[in-house]
Amino acid sequence: MNCGYVALIGRPNVGKSTLMNHLLGQKISITSRKPQTTRHRILGINTTEEGQAIYLDTPGMHSNEKHALNRYLNRTADTTLAGVDLVVWLIDRPIWHEYDEVIFNKLESAGLPVILVLNKIDRLKNKDDLLSFFAEAQKKFPFQQMVPVSALKGQNLQQLQLAIMGLLPENDLIYPEDQITDRSERFLAAEIVREKLTRQLGDELPYALTVEIEKYEDQVNIAKIYAIIWVERSSQKSIVIGKQGDRLKKVGTDARKDIEKLIDKKAYLQLWVKVKKGWSDNERALQSLGFND
Ligand code: GDP
Ligand code: MG
Repeated sequence: MNCGYVALIGRPNVGKSTLMNHLLGQKISITSRKPQTTRHRILGINTTEEGQAIYLDTPGMHSNEKHALNRYLNRTADTTLAGVDLVVWLIDRPIWHEYDEVIFNKLESAGLPVILVLNKIDRLKNKDDLLSFFAEAQKKFPFQQMVPVSALKGQNLQQLQLAIMGLLPENDLIYPEDQITDRSERFLAAEIVREKLTRQLGDELPYALTVEIEKYEDQVNIAKIYAIIWVERSSQKSIVIGKQGDRLKKVGTDARKDIEKLIDKKAYLQLWVKVKKGWSDNERALQSLGFND
């Protein structure tokens, strides 16, 4: 059997979390149109006949180090590359960006096998561009494989999965074959609430918003979940709650449905919005909310 760790890297919004969820066949990483949806590192474990791939869905790499949150994201991306056997680098159109140079540099010093994945091919108008792009890419970096996929529509994912398994080292399985993540249901519940907030709020989403599960009572037929949504200012609090609480209500209903799917039983979900000032610029406040490595 082949078994090993696979880092999913690439700019925010290229589809890393979507790809991981589809490879696993279950949603464990939250996704949205808004960049930086993924703040925490999450392991996704995929066991097939060929072996076991343990995916690390990384937050995007940032060049902007201004805020503590950005420093955290950058550090996570670096530590991710340190412990893996294989890198899957996602891009979402057949063009190189100035920003990609940062990744080329990181990959050169890492010395790992790399698969280049061109995602979102369902949106690609001219498929002829692919061949010349891949030929050019091979000159820039010795990619082990280059695979065009659509993570969202599930196109070509089987081919990608085989390529990944084939490049992992020979090893016994690290995780039991039925385990799909290293994260608790409590953690995943918080992530699901954050995803629904991201979707409901769009561009109005406060950058520093975070979700904390204050209490998670797992009973036989129901899970009772009490969550706090932290924002920085009381004006943001009103935005999150919405007129007569309609936004928060929608977030709660949508999140509860997803949580019930995940845990395969009923859930009761209570959401509170609270204000905590200036936390994105304060490492200690970050840590008190669980943002540590
Ligand atoms: P991440 O920041 O790299 O983790 O990106 P996400 O997985 O959160 O995806 C960002 C956005 O791209 C979401 O709106 C996804 O639905 C969308 N997306 C991901 N994969 C595809 C794809 O194959 N095709 C299309 N059209 N959209 C995609
Ligand atoms: Mg993501």
